[in-house]
Parts: sequence; C-alpha cells; structure tokens
Amino acid sequence: MPLKMFCDSDQHPLPTVICDQCGTRIETAADGDCRWRDIAEGDGATNLYFTHKRCGATLLHARGGDEGWSSIGLTQLPTRLTEALKVGPLPRRLQ
Ligand SMILES: [Zn+2]
Repeated sequence: MPLKMFCDSDQHPLPTVICDQCGTRIETAADGDCRWRDIAEGDGATNLYFTHKRCGATLLHARGGDEGWSSIGLTQLPTRLTEALKVGPLPRRLQ
C-alpha cells in the first residue's frame, strides 16, 4: 500500500508515499524512486513500487534481481501523473 493519507499538525490531509521495502514514509521526493517490471502482466500494466533510494536494491534483490526493472525518481512522478491524468495547467500555488 504505497500511498496513504495522513493529517499534518493542522489536520490537513496529505497524501504520503510509503516505501514498499521498509514500510516507512518517504519524506522527500529526492529520497525516493518509483520502480516497475519491464514486462507487463496480462492486462498490459505492471505494479508500481515506491522505495527510498537506500531501499531500492534490497527490494529488487528480494524479487529476483535488478534485471528487467525500470525506475524513475519520485521527483519525476508528479509530472508523469499530471500528463497521464490530463490535469492541465496546475494552479499557481502547486507549481
Ligand atoms: Zn525504505
């Protein structure tokens, strides 16, 4: 379950990325990666895994090694999601 909703100290809900390897929050995009297998499953999709950069090798080792995997840094994920979900221009406060 890589995405969870937490409330900050002002009780504002904040989507939070959880590391699929160690189970703790990924606090900054610069400290995380998004990984997936290169070969799609029957429905043409692959599951996404989120890891801290330090946890990525352990996750891949537990799943047979790093061959056949791709990844992007979490810093790239918002842009990819914005495109995939056809969000359009972001409000100024989110840019
Ligand atoms: Zn981790």
